[in-house]
Amino acid sequence: MGSSNSGRRDGKPCVDQFRSIDVRRVHRDCRLIPGNVFCRTWRRNETEVASILGRVGNDCVVLSYRQSWRGGPWRDCANTILLDWTDCHYGGKRPWWICPSCDRRVALLYSGDGVYACRHCFQLAYRSQRETEEDLAARRANHVRDRLGWPHGILNMPGGRPKGMHWKTYAELLGEHNEHSGEALKLFGQSLERLLSKLSCLQ
Ligand SMILES: [Zn+2]
Repeated sequence: MGSSNSGRRDGKPCVDQFRSIDVRRVHRDCRLIPGNVFCRTWRRNETEVASILGRVGNDCVVLSYRQSWRGGPWRDCANTILLDWTDCHYGGKRPWWICPSCDRRVALLYSGDGVYACRHCFQLAYRSQRETEEDLAARRANHVRDRLGWPHGILNMPGGRPKGMHWKTYAELLGEHNEHSGEALKLFGQSLERLLSKLSCLQ
């Protein structure tokens, strides 16, 4: 497994900066039955940058991988992760990892320095918790654009009323969109002004 991206210094790193293994995806792709083996690879620009081999045991999975943590020497790692199962609402059972570090039942484990652990143990935040108000307003506008069938991006032209949508619904969504995109643009303008005044101080 390759070195992980380094976290941001200003606060908690985000979950998407760490490689993760989703137990539901593993179960869907290979079935978590003792004796089964699965492999996961990560690619960057078509080149394989990391891979991991998992062997399913009795209520556990052994993860084997090679890792160079933050540019350090390469080493072979093996972690045994316990599995747990809970009943689904509509029948069947769903699997969970048991975090080796805190015993929490979790769907995703993240790769750290020779260990896999949950986001709580690595103190990882979700991207939305790290968003600026400006990002949040733009994301809200994009959410409305999805409902209108318009391409993402507040700088893109409005796409008009989708076929079959009631005028009343359209007017409401349009109002919502304009409110969020207006807010995002206002905040963007303010950040730009702050940046320009900083730059003029440096001259
Ligand atoms: Zn944990």
